[in-house]
Amino acid sequence: MTEIIPHWVTKQADINPDGIAVEMDHGDTLTFAELKEASQRFARKLAEIGVSKGMHVGILSTNSLDMITAIHALSYLDAVGVLLNIRLTTEEINYQLEDAEVSHLLTAEQLNEKEKTALNVGKILSFSEIQSYGEKDVLLCTELNLDATFTIIYTSGTTGFPKGVIHTYGNHWWSAIGSALNLGLEKQDKWLIPLPLFHVSGLSTLIKSVIYGMPIYLLKKFDEATVHEAIMEKGITIVSVVTVMVQRLIKQLGEKSYPYTLRCLLLGGGPAPRPLLEEARDRDIPVFQSYGMTETASQIVTLSPKDALEKVGSAGKPLFPAQLKIVDQDETNVGEIHVKGPMVTRGYYKNDAANEASIKDGWLATGDLGYLDEDGFLYVVDRRKDLIISGGENIYPSEIESVLSAMEQIKEVGVTGKKDEQWGAVPVAFIVKNQEVTSEEVLAFAEKRLAKYKLPKEIHFVAELPRNAANKLVRNKLLN
Ligand code: ATP
Ligand code: MG
Repeated sequence: MTEIIPHWVTKQADINPDGIAVEMDHGDTLTFAELKEASQRFARKLAEIGVSKGMHVGILSTNSLDMITAIHALSYLDAVGVLLNIRLTTEEINYQLEDAEVSHLLTAEQLNEKEKTALNVGKILSFSEIQSYGEKDVLLCTELNLDATFTIIYTSGTTGFPKGVIHTYGNHWWSAIGSALNLGLEKQDKWLIPLPLFHVSGLSTLIKSVIYGMPIYLLKKFDEATVHEAIMEKGITIVSVVTVMVQRLIKQLGEKSYPYTLRCLLLGGGPAPRPLLEEARDRDIPVFQSYGMTETASQIVTLSPKDALEKVGSAGKPLFPAQLKIVDQDETNVGEIHVKGPMVTRGYYKNDAANEASIKDGWLATGDLGYLDEDGFLYVVDRRKDLIISGGENIYPSEIESVLSAMEQIKEVGVTGKKDEQWGAVPVAFIVKNQEVTSEEVLAFAEKRLAKYKLPKEIHFVAELPRNAANKLVRNKLLN
């Protein structure tokens, strides 16, 4: 059965016209009625430019009100938004533009001719150029088909080439419902997004805003002082964060504590070192770990508030509409995490090989390793591709990273396996220092906390770690 719902922006504008939809850190706001007006105007201008149903339209922008209206405008035309990471190189952008068959590219900045010719796309227009167009008299969508494609977002490319994940309206709808069933909805909720909207975590919160009728507080860019001030003074109740943001926020907080209005720092995107989670718990900072990926339209597993204290280190239980199983478990119960649910993508765009390899009967093989404890709580261990098998023992780089990152002198650390004649592979560590420290000191620290076979056999001090455009550590580049 095809499921149809009213267009979510129109519906929210009907129910809650004067409610704040978006507040920017510099003060600009949009109500739901204004958001509808602006998005529909933008849609008619896009129609004038030639955008119509089913077309793939790229968006290359930092967070802004224009970007938000562009995203919703595409849904009013039943066109598909391809959200591009602004930190990608021209070559990487061209790969995604071609792979996703993008016909028009919308940009925040006005590009010069040289920049335009470097990009392989038919038409490039900046948001302000589009504003100068007239409005075509077209019929805008009044309904959304939950089976239809809304966006394509590429995975971060941490383990290989980025893959174009198709998100339907239904994926976003169920992601928002699943999150609300877990975190609850409160009348005073105001969700701060310091993450880019071109990542699924940012985009999914934008959609939650429209479905819940909840204001979002949008930052152009993360900055701990701004987030801190917003939490202290602007009534922020939930913030989406990644690990490094929590670290900086705790530093910024110093000896103070957050007001009771802050109910959740929703932590996702990657592993979190245990000492950080314990510090947050001990200081009553409401950090909720979650697990998800582009393919699951944001979190699919989240530690609920009632379990946050007891299950530090766990990502929680699958959200209400989702299922999870651990496949091919070893003797310690660690195996590959498979997930299923209405928020899970139906596939990668035009990528049969990836679809066949990872999607079967609605179950997605995530490529991540994890286990469930006796109460059914998920612990994510590492990515399958990064597993080090040393003399028959499994070693997870993230465990070693988590231990070493607790050393005060260490700013960042990455661990990978190096081929070894005797053991098959051995762990080696790459460290960015905060302060002076020697390999011997690092090893002495590690020896107290890790089994002998997990101790790094080499320690390299480096100026920085290889990261991708999503700022994720790319372990397979550590040894290059
Ligand atoms: P690619 O799929 O192209 O290699 P990517 O997997 O990094 O890139 P994303 O979709 O941005 O792309 O990231 C999702 C991944 O992030 C998960 O599959 C998992 O490996 C990691 N991750 C997310 N949450 C957690 C968590 N709580 N603990 C550990 N890892 C996590
Ligand atoms: Mg992935």
